[in-house]
Amino acid sequence: MARYTGSVCRLCRREGLKLFLKGERCYTDKCAIERRNYPPGQHGQGRVRFSEFAIRLREKQKVKRIYGVAERQFERYFEMAERMPGVTGENLLMLLERRLDNVVYRMGFAVSRAQARQLVRHGHIEVDGKVVDLPSYLVSVGQEVRVAERSRNKKVIQEALELSQRRGTPHWLSVDREQMRGVFSALPARSDLTMPISEKLIVEYYSR
Ligand code: SF4
Repeated sequence: MARYTGSVCRLCRREGLKLFLKGERCYTDKCAIERRNYPPGQHGQGRVRFSEFAIRLREKQKVKRIYGVAERQFERYFEMAERMPGVTGENLLMLLERRLDNVVYRMGFAVSRAQARQLVRHGHIEVDGKVVDLPSYLVSVGQEVRVAERSRNKKVIQEALELSQRRGTPHWLSVDREQMRGVFSALPARSDLTMPISEKLIVEYYSR
């Protein structure tokens, strides 16, 4: 499936919440959700009643959009999550959290997951000292993620690090901003993921 190339703010408005897809703008009053918190389109301001199916579909779409994952890949994560021991919905979220683009974003080397994906694809990120250019690479506990030596002067990375000081670093990552490196110290607990996500609805969506 082709990647969505339209306005990302429309995606937030569709889901009715901030998905933080646009970097610094998301933290200002220019954010489209701050200005027009209703679905895009001609009938956006009308009253809509969602069916049970639509509620589950929206939840799946929301999580897919937060992490910037394509449909087929999202399905693959779900299949992996089902095969893992434990709770499927939580396993799914942990797999998404382990994606390299997500870790780069969480560590503050990029202002959004989309920008993190670009950095990874262009070879600016190393895992345990080796360039990894696959945004979907799953980082394991204990692995070190860092900005490649030759990329440390990049303006976008320095600006992102500045913004990340305001955003804060999740406690399951230990980050050395000066050295532009961090360690994925532990898997987050479900309660650490504070976005309003109901993974149970996603499990129900795929179990229909
Ligand atoms: Fe979403 Fe960010 Fe756009 Fe706000 S500015 S609507 S959070 S992408």
